[in-house]
Amino acid sequence: MNNKRGILIGRMQPVHNGHIQVINKILEEVDEIIIGIGSAQLSHELKNPFTAGERILMMNQALAESDIDPGRYYIIPMEDINFNAIWASHVKMMTPPFSIVYSGNPLVKQLFKEEGIEVRQPPLYDRLHLSGTEVRRRILEDENWQELVPKATADLIAEINGVERLKNLSIKEISDV
Ligand code: NAD
Repeated sequence: MNNKRGILIGRMQPVHNGHIQVINKILEEVDEIIIGIGSAQLSHELKNPFTAGERILMMNQALAESDIDPGRYYIIPMEDINFNAIWASHVKMMTPPFSIVYSGNPLVKQLFKEEGIEVRQPPLYDRLHLSGTEVRRRILEDENWQELVPKATADLIAEINGVERLKNLSIKEISDV
């Protein structure tokens, strides 16, 4: 059978409810989705606290929690490369063949359009609250971040002491002037 595949690439720092909602939506349009875990090489930074492996696990467990058929998705870590002009080819080389790219990111859209691939803008769900930036901010401010993420994400962040990691990353070194 010739499966219709779409791809969604995001840093998923961390996986939140918006990602799961948009994946469900995309699965109404394609047979299989490729979920690219972007900037896979980055971790232990305020904007990128979690490793690619941790993000793969978060995604895998969150999709299981949502009862999404494991036969319908691939989770693939994607490292950044220095050359935007060949990034779309790089992504194609690392993933099963796909015919639709789902992204709201202007650079991602531009690079895949230039490759002649169809780009669709997926809907954004409650973007004010459902963003990695807001989840990380709430973690640092001791606000309720758990309500923005699947239980699997919250459990994994607890298991890896992710709150402590983020707080340690936010401490500025005091220079001894
Ligand atoms: P992101 O994490 O901001 O978002 C990923 C996707 O998740 C979005 O496009 C959106 O569709 C979805 N999403 C997020 N919140 C949502 C919500 N509330 N409701 C519905 N959907 C929601 O990721 P991004 O910045 O678009 O990721 C692009 C990745 O590609 C980055 O890792 C970037 O470094 C990489 N990239 C690399 C190169 C290169 O290496 N040269 C070039 C371009 C892009």
